Amino acid sequence: MAAPRILAIDQGTTSTRAVMFDGAGKPLATSQIPLRQIYPADGWVEHDADEIWNATLSVCRAVIAQTGGVDGVEAVGITNQRETTVVWNRRTGHPVTHAIVWQDRRGAALCAALREAGHEGAIQNKTGLLIDSYFSATKVQWILDNVPDAREAALKGELAFGTIDTFLLWRLTGGRVHATDATNAARTMLYDIHAGRWDDGLLNLFGVPKAILPEVRDTAGDFGTTDPALFGRAIPITALVGDQHGALVGQACFTPGMVKSTYGTGCFVLVNTGAKALPSRNRLLTTVAYRLKGQTTYALEGSIFNAGTVIQWLRDNVGLISSAAESERFAAELEHAGGTGRVYFVPAFTGLGAPHWDPAARGAILGLTRDSGVAHIVRAGLESVCYQTHDLLVALRQDGIPSPPALRVDGGMIANNWLLQFLADITGIPVERPVYAETTVLGAAFLAGLGRGLFSSLDEIKTAWRLDFRAEPRMADAQRAALLEGWQDAVKRVMR
Ligand code: ADP
Repeated sequence: MAAPRILAIDQGTTSTRAVMFDGAGKPLATSQIPLRQIYPADGWVEHDADEIWNATLSVCRAVIAQTGGVDGVEAVGITNQRETTVVWNRRTGHPVTHAIVWQDRRGAALCAALREAGHEGAIQNKTGLLIDSYFSATKVQWILDNVPDAREAALKGELAFGTIDTFLLWRLTGGRVHATDATNAARTMLYDIHAGRWDDGLLNLFGVPKAILPEVRDTAGDFGTTDPALFGRAIPITALVGDQHGALVGQACFTPGMVKSTYGTGCFVLVNTGAKALPSRNRLLTTVAYRLKGQTTYALEGSIFNAGTVIQWLRDNVGLISSAAESERFAAELEHAGGTGRVYFVPAFTGLGAPHWDPAARGAILGLTRDSGVAHIVRAGLESVCYQTHDLLVALRQDGIPSPPALRVDGGMIANNWLLQFLADITGIPVERPVYAETTVLGAAFLAGLGRGLFSSLDEIKTAWRLDFRAEPRMADAQRAALLEGWQDAVKRVMR
């Protein structure tokens, strides 16, 4: 008998990936295909759902073949870009139009009107979200109002709506299962996270007929089996999870107060808040961490718009570095050489997020002296990511979240050890990098294993998480306070 393996699908904004894991959560093979971005109008972003499906099939088949065939593949888990919306015809299986991607802003005017009409409080109370076109509600509404005959067909029960998890599940099961999980449902702005069901009031508000909605299930559990024609055998599908929630699980943050922080293009911080859904006074989002055996665990989520973009800007816009990795060398060398003044880089390229909330703010580099050079600016860019994390943690503290025991980090930027040390220094919190940094897809595998009974409990998953590198805070309090004071001053200067 072949040893048990878990197939995890990670359908992201820029690529579709499959990773085959062994039964203990060790990666065995990976396959990835980039995804075409479609920009039909200013502020619009679309994906071709059929392209996503074909890529999913290819990457799954590739990792199955690379690891000895389909025998022994015990479970499939799916993690996905959240909020991205697909509407398809139940009979033909064809999407009625391109998928509308989370970044797409075409619902912005609708959202502004809802805010104006005073709906924000009620929507936040039910969904944990702030009214925004990121979430699926206005995307579904747009499709039903703008694709010819769509609303009529939806009312007749001919159409199905789903986020990417749901669309892939539907295709993988040969059209037999139309379901989502609570984490993905929580990002639609149509789902009451406290009652754990689609909300009639919100469905009315956004004009979304019940007939198109998927059933909401536990994050790990029974989602049917793959159509045997696809991989040569029916494989149980046992987990669906939104990407940031997947990362929380992949980082084994199962105890209230544990935090994961993902440093990619932007930065997403999620804190496990246990059985309590904490409302935020700082415009953070309340969300479902995961739902297991009918029990919902909640999380608070905060994001930083610009993290890796700082490094991309230094490399691609001004050419101060030739590669992202070079940023570490610059910062570290400067440390040894000392240097006088302190340069601050406020990367408010698209405004400032939590806890400053100033969409009109724009970026600035401050504190330049006659001896400032490339290294000072590059180091300031890296530091800005850490200062922003500090600010987000302050917002979390104001919302009643105590300082976490550690920050478990992942994402492309965490290859940078200098960054992790400064992050520990400036937050005063130890920073932990796991051995396997692809925590999103690992989380999907863990959950699929749990849903299939390969793991007996979250405790067993916890022991499968492995530490690679831990940065301890070493900076003296006085120095930290002085640096933070300089940062706050720099932020004030860019606010409008
Ligand atoms: P996403 O999933 O958002 O596309 P990734 O998690 O792949 O992003 O992270 C990519 C980001 O990490 C890029 O913005 C890149 O500039 C940054 N990055 C990669 N390596 C380093 C490094 N050694 N130091 C700092 N930033 C890095």
